[in-house]
Amino acid sequence: MKYLLSFSIVLFACSFLQLTSFAQKKGQEKKGQGGKPANKEVVKPAPAIAQTENYQIALDLTKAKDDKLSVELITPKISENEVVYCMPKIVPGTYSIYDFGRFLSDFKALDAQGKELTVEVIDENRWKILNAKDLYKITYRVEDSYDTGKDNFIFEPAGTNIEENTNFVINTHGFFGYIDGMKRNDYEVNITKPEGFFGATSMQNVSTSPITDRFVMEDYMQLADAPIMYAKPDTTVMQVGGAEILISVYSGRKKLTSKFVAEQIAPILNAQKDYLGGKLPVSRYAFIIYLFQGLSGSGSMGALEHSYSSLYYLPEIEPDDLAQIIKDVAAHEFFHIVTPLSIHSQEIHDFDFINPKMSKHLWMYEGCIEYFAGHVQVKHGLMSQENYFNVILGKINEAKTYKDKLPFTIMSKGCLHEHKSQYQNVYAKGALIGMCLDITLRRLSGGTYGIQQLILDLARQYGKDKPFNDEELFDRIIEVSKQPELRKFFADYVEGENPLPLKEIFKSVGLKYDITEKVPSLSLGMQLSFDESTGYFTIDEIDEANAKIGIQKGDFVVAINKDKVTQQNYRDVFDQVKKNGKEGEKYTIVVERLENGKRKERKVKATFVTITEYNYLPLGIDEQATPAQVKLRDSWLKVSN
Ligand SMILES: [Zn+2]
Repeated sequence: MKYLLSFSIVLFACSFLQLTSFAQKKGQEKKGQGGKPANKEVVKPAPAIAQTENYQIALDLTKAKDDKLSVELITPKISENEVVYCMPKIVPGTYSIYDFGRFLSDFKALDAQGKELTVEVIDENRWKILNAKDLYKITYRVEDSYDTGKDNFIFEPAGTNIEENTNFVINTHGFFGYIDGMKRNDYEVNITKPEGFFGATSMQNVSTSPITDRFVMEDYMQLADAPIMYAKPDTTVMQVGGAEILISVYSGRKKLTSKFVAEQIAPILNAQKDYLGGKLPVSRYAFIIYLFQGLSGSGSMGALEHSYSSLYYLPEIEPDDLAQIIKDVAAHEFFHIVTPLSIHSQEIHDFDFINPKMSKHLWMYEGCIEYFAGHVQVKHGLMSQENYFNVILGKINEAKTYKDKLPFTIMSKGCLHEHKSQYQNVYAKGALIGMCLDITLRRLSGGTYGIQQLILDLARQYGKDKPFNDEELFDRIIEVSKQPELRKFFADYVEGENPLPLKEIFKSVGLKYDITEKVPSLSLGMQLSFDESTGYFTIDEIDEANAKIGIQKGDFVVAINKDKVTQQNYRDVFDQVKKNGKEGEKYTIVVERLENGKRKERKVKATFVTITEYNYLPLGIDEQATPAQVKLRDSWLKVSN
């Protein structure tokens, strides 16, 4: 996944439901749950569609009503008295709990004659069906997530969209579930579409009908790994490195075309092919792109990766302004086919959609991928070294907004709950860990072995069907790279609290890097952050100068001087206030606070203070670098011949 925040200060305020644990039926996770149909004394008429070992699903996009679609699912034959139908609590790649079952309503379980069976709701994502031996069909309605009023908003690349006769984002995990213990039965999904619509997906449409598409998948994991977007088609198909690449764009105002995107992505994919040793590890791939107008519902834009596709949620702005974003995000998502999609631990391999267990290695799944996405561009001449150094500086600055002392392995394990607010650091410090590991490997090997070779070696040793043990990854890396010195690197910088040795690392490749220049800067004398759940900025910290003016931590900021502060205008307001202010001068701040359940407004005078900020000097070539440093830099940034 790749999140790009469209504003800089975000606090995620989400409430989680604690689910009670329930007995897993792991031993039954295989095909052939059907068994013989129960003996019936009275012969009842057979239903139009016979029950098989497969899930047979029908979804009709022409029948959207009240922003909802109906799902009809003929279940596999059931041999147990009770079964539980599950929707995912979480899906791979998101590292967030979303509870997709929240969007279902009118849940019914029916026998072959259409008689309702008793259903007990276990929690938001699970329904227990009694007399399940008689179960023939499950029906329910699904509301989309893009324009929902529900809290815990789903990051759009993982969400669902129902816009009648316009666009449907069918993230299959948001529409379809599975019966506990029967995740590995086949799925037959039949989707009826509006006239002239095309379903963009990596799945093969095996239907011959012009109005109904048909997709057949081997199990729930594969189905959930394959989103579909329906719209009037704008598609381009191209061949890169022996793979067929589909690009499909939905741009409501027709600003962006699939042809333009193809022109941006083709050179990147070619470079990625070379980066990965000369061939793409897939034979087909789909880039599915949805452009939004106005504000993003989640406050972010970005994409989510899958094995054979990725789904993008990006702003509908001028194509030239979007070009670099598309390149960066597409490179990131496409690289995910390496990790976690093919190099991953047991936790990801046996993905538990209801009781997720996190791996320690987000530094690799997201950090290294983010590093590759930039590194491939400079290495293959698609970005200048100067621009690349700015990309690195951007990561360094971004990483400063997170807890540097929180070991990455611990953050990774706790990214769903206690360290949720630190997750985004995977794209900043995570990428820097990838860079430092790469340069360290090259230094230790005399420039002959870097992270690209390491990943290829790991992919050879593991792969899609062979997970590693989470505890052993560092050992395996040391083994395949033959560099025992890496033990200290992982202990210090990935599992430990030490800051990354950026100065040393840059020096080893002959780059100048100095963050010691300090400059004075005017400050409001308090720290604010944006609270998504209320839509207000809140006060996080108050400097000494303003400690006794009657404002408190947690107060909502309504206005500064005469300007209302909103998520849209805060930059302008803060800039303007600071531009006209001086150290020691007063400004007016209006805050609101909850007192006895009522919001009370307060207007106080606060004082500007001067704080010290670090001025980041540009990262650049050191003209005095030794030949050895230059050689190491070239092995890092240039393609060797
Ligand atoms: Zn990612």
